[in-house]
Amino acid sequence: MNSVGEQAALVPMNDLSRGIVRERAALDDAARSVLDSGYVVMGPNHKAFEDELAVYLGARRVLGVASGTDALEVAFKAAMPAGKHTVLTAANAGGYSSTAARRAGYSVTYADVDPNSMCVSVETVAEVLHPDVGLVVVTHLYGNFTDTREIVEYCHERGVLVVEDCAQAIGAFREEGAAGTVGDVAATSFYPTKNLGALGDGGAVITMSAEIAERVTLLRQYGWSSKYNVAIDGGVNSRLDEIQAAFLRVRLPLLDGRNERRREVIARYVKAAEGGPVNVLPALGSHHAGHLAVATTEDRDDVRAQLLRAGVQTDIHFPVPDHLQVGFDAASQRLANTERLSQAIFTLPCFPELTEDEVDKVCTALASIT
Ligand SMILES: *Cc1c(COP(=O)(O)O)cnc(C)c1O
Repeated sequence: MNSVGEQAALVPMNDLSRGIVRERAALDDAARSVLDSGYVVMGPNHKAFEDELAVYLGARRVLGVASGTDALEVAFKAAMPAGKHTVLTAANAGGYSSTAARRAGYSVTYADVDPNSMCVSVETVAEVLHPDVGLVVVTHLYGNFTDTREIVEYCHERGVLVVEDCAQAIGAFREEGAAGTVGDVAATSFYPTKNLGALGDGGAVITMSAEIAERVTLLRQYGWSSKYNVAIDGGVNSRLDEIQAAFLRVRLPLLDGRNERRREVIARYVKAAEGGPVNVLPALGSHHAGHLAVATTEDRDDVRAQLLRAGVQTDIHFPVPDHLQVGFDAASQRLANTERLSQAIFTLPCFPELTEDEVDKVCTALASIT
């Protein structure tokens, strides 16, 4: 409805309350069932959710952990080949894989990204691969499940394993399978703003390897093979809460429809911006989960100011590449595409609960940028 109040309100980057309101009855039931059961960690919902997500993805195993960053960390520790200590990753994906690798005690080398997919490619990996690299991380950025088969082949020929970060691409599929099932192991996040979001923190490791699944099972609980018996080093305490698993079971069946809505919103933006100074990245087809509506433009500050005056909130994912982060104390690598893109990208509002009026408002604003 076109009330005066709505006219004045900004189109927000996100509004989690809308999804909670819509699913309130089912979420209340889920919470009640957990309280009634008396299980708060590693209970029946946790196990059922792991199995349901594995079936949805076509993965051998899904293992719940406490966050996406924890999922990366335990995936790295479970998969790192003996004698190697370096994780190779992109520097444009928010720093999560760098944080996880550093926490696991590994070194980090950065590969530049392909200017189209904004993900690492065989070419960019080949440029920097060195003998200490044991793992290559492919982050399916903004929802785009990048074609990973060539990277996997290239890495396997060299004794390197591939970790997919599908925190932004859960529910993206290609002919060869779901994002998270084409590498050796994958990590995802259930942070509330992700496509499959909990009502708090959560994450999971996804794998087709029984061996890696077994190691993750030990690593997520202190390295225990059984209670109080530490079988392997590097264990952490990282569990997905029972109540979050119950909420996620409510939301998993809704994921495909929500991803479709995200793609629709992005398609509207692409069309509205056509011919103007803003290039909205398309999210066409099931290989794209439409996590973020990202655009590039030359005069970003000016464009964002125009959008704000038209009532549209924007953000930048991500403004500082990892290799330039002061806190990472990174080496002096040069990553031309990564650096150039970090100056050009910005993000438009995109979440499934945006109203048609809000999407219209963003489209009108995009079409009128000068
Ligand atoms: C959100 C995110 C993570 C980290 O997930 P948390 O649950 O916040 O720890 C990792 N990788 C990518 C690409 C993400 O977007």
